[in-house]
Amino acid sequence: MSSPGTGPDEAAGGTGAASSDPAGAGGTGGGTGFRSGFISVVGRPNVGKSTLVNRIVGSKVSITSSTPNTTRTRVRGVLDGPGFQAVFVDTPGIHKPRSPLGARLNETASDSLDDVDVCLLVVDATAAIGPGDRFVAGRVPPDTVIVVNKADRATPTEILAQLTRAADQLGLAEAEYFPVSALTGTGIDALVEHVIARLPAGPRYFPDGMVSDAPEAFYVAELVREQLLRVAREELPHSIACRVTEWEWPYVRCEILVERESQKAIVVGRGGSVLKAAGTAARRALPPGTYLDLHVKVEKDWQRRLDVIERLGY
Ligand code: GDP
Ligand code: MG
Repeated sequence: MSSPGTGPDEAAGGTGAASSDPAGAGGTGGGTGFRSGFISVVGRPNVGKSTLVNRIVGSKVSITSSTPNTTRTRVRGVLDGPGFQAVFVDTPGIHKPRSPLGARLNETASDSLDDVDVCLLVVDATAAIGPGDRFVAGRVPPDTVIVVNKADRATPTEILAQLTRAADQLGLAEAEYFPVSALTGTGIDALVEHVIARLPAGPRYFPDGMVSDAPEAFYVAELVREQLLRVAREELPHSIACRVTEWEWPYVRCEILVERESQKAIVVGRGGSVLKAAGTAARRALPPGTYLDLHVKVEKDWQRRLDVIERLGY
């Protein structure tokens, strides 16, 4: 229903997007006028999907990096507002798989397109629309919202040209277009308004105020464990586990669980040397500015709990 040729300003007033399905999938008992839904964020690697979700939700929930495919699992960012809850699903980039892991990432990304209420396809304002974008566009619903990101790095003329090219080349007849900068926040309000307007009636899926269920926390925990093993491969007992207990970006608190005091001494190392080396190495693999707070804890039953964590799907 939209006209791609219209420039950035169309977005500013574009609240009225009424065409959604009011009696949609969420009808499992939301009750009095509450609306909710799942918003999938797709696009080829590195276009800024994670940055966008972080910006919208207002807190870092997903690991972003300039290296494609840092996002290994789905991350939800939950946006709560008066009368609505919007659950954003940040997906790994859909791309032609080159490895089993790549294939898994693709599966995750494609799965997330089922049962979503709104789909956001992110493209880069500063890069040519290419086969990667068309590959993704071929797998999304026709009423997908096309988000032209990194607008801060393009002139208005370039953005307009990119909007036109997206309309010509992505083949999404009913698409709406929003130029934004996930980095600076420009255009984000208009995009969010539009998304909220499209949410169907539905329940509150997550407790109010819960920003994210952050599966990325498992990634960080795993990273810390890897680095500990790398630093002290020989001495370390197999019975160490890591879990992230606080995730308030940039602050991440990670506990290292051991079963005995003697093991704790090994993990900490002489004068804290082992812990420090592992922490430094882990931090290097995380976004700049991450504050990684490591604690070693003696806890007998951790193994049972780790089973649970693993069953949760990491
Ligand atoms: P993803 O792979 O699609 O999730 O992309 P990321 O969110 O990890 O971002 C990839 C890179 O693009 C990072 O270096 C981001 O800082 C950068 N980036 C994301 N959004 C913007 C933006 O709006 N403007 C600029 N200049 N850079 C951005
Ligand atoms: Mg990402």
